[in-house]
Amino acid sequence: MLTGISQKCFPGPVLANTLSQWIGCARLIYNAKCDEDRYLRAFAQKYLPVQTYAPIDKQYSQYKSELTPWLKDCPSQIMRNSATIWYKAYIDFLKGKSARPHRKNKVNGNYIWVTNELFRIRWEGSTCVVELGTIKNPAGSMRVKWNKSRIPKIPPKSIWIKKNHAGWKLSFSYEDGNLINQDDNDQHLKHLSTLSADELEGLITPIDRGIAKPIQTDQTSFDLDIKAKCRLAYREKCLKRFQRKLARQNKGSNQHKKTQQKIAKLKEKDTNLKNDFWHKTTHAIASNAKVVVMEDLKLKNMTLRPKPRQDVNGKWLKNGAKAKAGLNKALLHLGLNKFEVYLSYKMAKLNKPIFKISPYQTSQECAHCGYIHPDNRKTQSDFECLSCGHVDNADHNAALVIRKRAMDLILNSGTELVGTQKNVLRLRANHNRSKTVKSQYLAANDDLLKKKVA
Ligand SMILES: [Zn+2]
Repeated sequence: MLTGISQKCFPGPVLANTLSQWIGCARLIYNAKCDEDRYLRAFAQKYLPVQTYAPIDKQYSQYKSELTPWLKDCPSQIMRNSATIWYKAYIDFLKGKSARPHRKNKVNGNYIWVTNELFRIRWEGSTCVVELGTIKNPAGSMRVKWNKSRIPKIPPKSIWIKKNHAGWKLSFSYEDGNLINQDDNDQHLKHLSTLSADELEGLITPIDRGIAKPIQTDQTSFDLDIKAKCRLAYREKCLKRFQRKLARQNKGSNQHKKTQQKIAKLKEKDTNLKNDFWHKTTHAIASNAKVVVMEDLKLKNMTLRPKPRQDVNGKWLKNGAKAKAGLNKALLHLGLNKFEVYLSYKMAKLNKPIFKISPYQTSQECAHCGYIHPDNRKTQSDFECLSCGHVDNADHNAALVIRKRAMDLILNSGTELVGTQKNVLRLRANHNRSKTVKSQYLAANDDLLKKKVA
């Protein structure tokens, strides 16, 4: 399984300056490739015969000119890697995986991809030191906060160095040796469908995700402790104050930069706190549960803005946008999606299945008799069935409903369960479909390149 590690690193002022220059050069190449592509496409559309396309390549030497003398100070590998990133992004676009690569700025383009010609990793006791630059022309060395026991013994072939207002980060990905079989979930499903209802009930751990209680299983619930909640609330207050301050300050001034750094550090602390909570929660669930079932929440659709409303005369009416904005913030605040991502890979490592069911009316259904009505849910936390009088906590009731639905689906029609792996397969099928359409585009480009070479 492809795993990644991202940690803070601490370059000194000299190395930080050099790295910033490299980042700037890499971004210049990336943006120049975007501009070139745009120009060539417009040219081809205007002056070339139909179905003639602009070439896509990794060349970058044309940008080294008298107008850009600073590019000579940057190692060519950094610029080559930047052109390669652009090329890969463009091929992904042609395959239908992403949008066309667009220009980057200092916010989303503050990184470099460093391949192993330009870095060496060395350990001084338990401290990791990364040396940058070639052996002939070293750029300097920096300390990285890595844990020796968790770093793979084979050094990575390439690393990413990112910069933001909170500091520097160094990351890389590696294959951890855990094999994931695509058919595992189907095999688990086949085995589960042979079991009896009582056995299934003991095996399945249902999970209900919500705003008031982030995670509720059939037995326990997981939530941030009071200390953490206080910290989050306090930091939000500080953040608002700093943002107001930032708006008043002159852009580019030293004070403006300082406030930006303070905001970035506050946000980083929040992210760390939430990540820690999700890692602990998912670890506890993955190590105890045998089969996990949860709702297939579409958070992107759930947090859409409400549409504007007009009456017959064209007068604008209230559409509840402010209330919806508050709900959206609450939904996205903790990052329920992170829970799904973390739990998926932890379960996959332990070879345990994870399934998803439709979330339709799970909070209004009675787990005891199956009666569905919106009035069943009296308040956010209280549930009382209008038909049989079953009383329970609303989130706990929803968790039981999820288990009941999963059992029904496994015993009666096992094929209807949505496995995470199946979702991935479906997405891939969609990509392949767009690939066949766009393969003509690629073929036309190849012809053009061949002609160019000849
Ligand atoms: Zn009932």
